Amino acid sequence: MIRGIPTLDDLGDVSGKRVLVRADFNVPIEDGNITDDFRIRAALPTLNWLRDRGATVVCATHLGRPKGAPDPKYSVEPVRARLAELAPGVELLENLRFDPGEEGNKPEFVDTLIEGVELYVNDAFGASHRAHASIVGPPHRLPSAMGLLLAKEVEVLLVLRNDPKRPFVAVLGGAKISDKLGVVEALLDVVDSLAIGGAMCFTFLAAQGKRIGDSLFEPDQVDTCARILEQQGSKVHLPEDIIGLDATGNLATWGTNVPDGGKGFDIGPGTAAAFSDIVMEARTVFWNGPMGMFEDDRFAAGTRTLAQAMADTKAFTVVGGGDSAAALAEFRLDDEVDHVSTGGGASLELLELGDLPGLVALREAPNAH
Ligand code: ADP
Ligand code: MG
Repeated sequence: MIRGIPTLDDLGDVSGKRVLVRADFNVPIEDGNITDDFRIRAALPTLNWLRDRGATVVCATHLGRPKGAPDPKYSVEPVRARLAELAPGVELLENLRFDPGEEGNKPEFVDTLIEGVELYVNDAFGASHRAHASIVGPPHRLPSAMGLLLAKEVEVLLVLRNDPKRPFVAVLGGAKISDKLGVVEALLDVVDSLAIGGAMCFTFLAAQGKRIGDSLFEPDQVDTCARILEQQGSKVHLPEDIIGLDATGNLATWGTNVPDGGKGFDIGPGTAAAFSDIVMEARTVFWNGPMGMFEDDRFAAGTRTLAQAMADTKAFTVVGGGDSAAALAEFRLDDEVDHVSTGGGASLELLELGDLPGLVALREAPNAH
């Protein structure tokens, strides 16, 4: 139960009604083909719930990052085709971000969206951290509800935030630390251990005075990382070995000092084993961000080892983040974890702040209780 937010049952009789469902169908597309339809399938329970009760369902989504104008590259047509197979009869509006009113949250765009629509459902967890028109507009105007996917996501992540079984371990990786520093600080207040890999580890290693060669790092975040280590250092686990390319482009394994001209692209085997041990001993694990540049086979081992530990541990396991989820799917371990979130940024923001703009808006809907 998520306090104050209307559920599908709170919509009343939906039969014969036109329902706008804001979904997150922002799927990867290559050469016009969807390479992973996970996000479309994840919305089916809500779409079927509504169809089974006689509603006419109109979906809306964003796709990619068009700049507020129609761009054939970001047409929803491939999604529409897949949706027609999975949920025949469900309509899909064109890419919301073709209109600048979506990201600008313009009332006129909300008017267009809800024209002829009687009810609104938000099932777009992955977009609910954005105060965009389709997320925060309709709930102020129509009887509204959270969809089944949104409800499940929020429930799982709030348990992690508010009442995790301990030890609670977070593993963070990925490319950019500035994106994730807020959540690092919030997580350190609730977790027992935080393991840091991916490119983001280099800013922390630099803050410890280690040499990081030419590895990706963010100089303007070094002070913040140093402060975090000073205050909560006992909970933070950083790599003890690194795999990368040396100045001549040869594969190399180092300790925590990367030589001049070297670039770290993955955690080393010792670190992967240490992080796996932490995951195996935990009772709750949240993982966001690959441990290395796993798209390149030479740098996939750390992410693969961690993914395997996520699959093997008895802990309650949650994975958030587009690239982390893609890595799990590539290793065919996505069915072996308890929850794969459809939202990366949204799951981090919900863990950090305990609420999202999309949820706030639903609490203000006319039928909210
Ligand atoms: P997620 O989508 O799971 O939240 P991010 O988007 O933050 O993850 O980061 C994923 C990207 O980080 C991947 O494309 C991966 O190649 C990259 N990455 C991870 N480690 C490194 C590294 N050491 N150097 C460069 N890129 C890295
Ligand atoms: Mg990503």
